[in-house]
Amino acid sequence: MRQSLDRDNRQEGIARQRERCRALSESREWEVVEEYIDNDVSASKPRGPGTAWHRLLTDARAGRVDVVVAVDQDRLMRSLRDLVALIELGVKIATVDGELDLTSADGEFRATLAAGLARFEVARKSERQRRANQQGRSLGVPPSGRRAFGYTTTSKGAKSTTATRRGADGREWPAYGHEPLEPEATAVRDGFDALLAGATLRSIARDWNARGLTTTQGGDWEPTAVRAVLSNPRYAGLVSPPRSTKQSTARHHLGLADLPVGTWEPLVTPETWAAARDLLADPARRSNPGAAPRWLLSGLATCGKCGATMKGGVVRGIRVYRCSQTAHLARKRDDADHYIAEIVIERLSRPDAAGLLVDRDAPDLEAMRAELRAAQQGEANVLSMVARGLTSLSAAEASLRDVRERIGRLEAAMSNAGRVDVLGPLVASGDVRAAWQALDSDRQRAIVRTLLAVEMHSPGKGSRAPREAAGRLAHTAATIRLEWR
Ligand SMILES: [Zn+2]
Repeated sequence: MRQSLDRDNRQEGIARQRERCRALSESREWEVVEEYIDNDVSASKPRGPGTAWHRLLTDARAGRVDVVVAVDQDRLMRSLRDLVALIELGVKIATVDGELDLTSADGEFRATLAAGLARFEVARKSERQRRANQQGRSLGVPPSGRRAFGYTTTSKGAKSTTATRRGADGREWPAYGHEPLEPEATAVRDGFDALLAGATLRSIARDWNARGLTTTQGGDWEPTAVRAVLSNPRYAGLVSPPRSTKQSTARHHLGLADLPVGTWEPLVTPETWAAARDLLADPARRSNPGAAPRWLLSGLATCGKCGATMKGGVVRGIRVYRCSQTAHLARKRDDADHYIAEIVIERLSRPDAAGLLVDRDAPDLEAMRAELRAAQQGEANVLSMVARGLTSLSAAEASLRDVRERIGRLEAAMSNAGRVDVLGPLVASGDVRAAWQALDSDRQRAIVRTLLAVEMHSPGKGSRAPREAAGRLAHTAATIRLEWR
């Protein structure tokens, strides 16, 4: 028994095949020695070790099997090679639909013919699928097939011209399925926010697992699966490149301009997605996706004596930050964290706080988008002149270089704008202190990194530090140098 691609009816399909195969075996008075079920093995992929087909061949070779029964030839074999393999093992074959019966020469001939046809059908099917996907991409329709996390299933044969529905964003979207699905959609948005605010893939995976969410295949979230979601342009309403492009490293260099805009409701802006893509492409992050410093300032603050970063540690039972190079500077962690948190909360609570998180140099996003479109048009114009022989490629090279440089610059600026965008919510919240305290340490660290350079100096001997809270705060303030970014 074999079932592929028909995911929704998979179990039913197998059950029905079993019923019919058993009925045939009974009528011929054959004893069923074993059932071989290949679930979800695509007809265009090889059936290697671990598949039921492989086990069947092994058993047949060992003489455990005299006759192989299947509903029809498609369920049993996909190529002449499959058929030849069975014949060479001396196994007889019978199908419920009567097409195959390898007990006669005539039957054997027809089997050969049928296998040839089956092979042709496989080739045609994958060609059809490929063409359908290609066409879907050019129409901006999401691929059908496995459901994407955060979205409902796409209806089969979806067209961008089907009936419309009103999205949560108030806009009209085609009603072909693939609608934002709660609570997953919110988790995806939160995941992008967290990533851009400095959270690790591991902590996002933890968060999604804690919300009781699984992958669409029912698995627990792992950092690699989270990465696959957060690097997928689909969530920005952009059409993914074909699979062949996807697998190459070139994927990271795909600009926003290379991806056609889809016709489904996005969960994040293209700028947010591009910023996430840039972060995930950072080799430092790739090599060490799980390491999350647990302390607010470790790796962020620098040593006032030598300029190295400060790391967390414990000295005589007291939690401290100490110079990562030598033992010439250590100071209490709790006091430093408390002071920095108070500074951040105070600064972000001021009326002019919004100005801090907005990139002062970033011009209006809409204007940037318009400029990007114009630059892309310019590039296309130059290329089309080359194509029509109106100018040579070497003559066009300089202007192409200019326009591509401009496109690169604009894309970088737009990514940055997306990043600043997600740091804003803290400022926008009515209660900065409560919002800060609700953040996990990854996000708190990202905010500190955005706002401040922290340089630590010696606090002096322990006995000199005042005991009461306000005095300690003042003492800490006097021995930690801050620079606003
Ligand atoms: Zn030092």
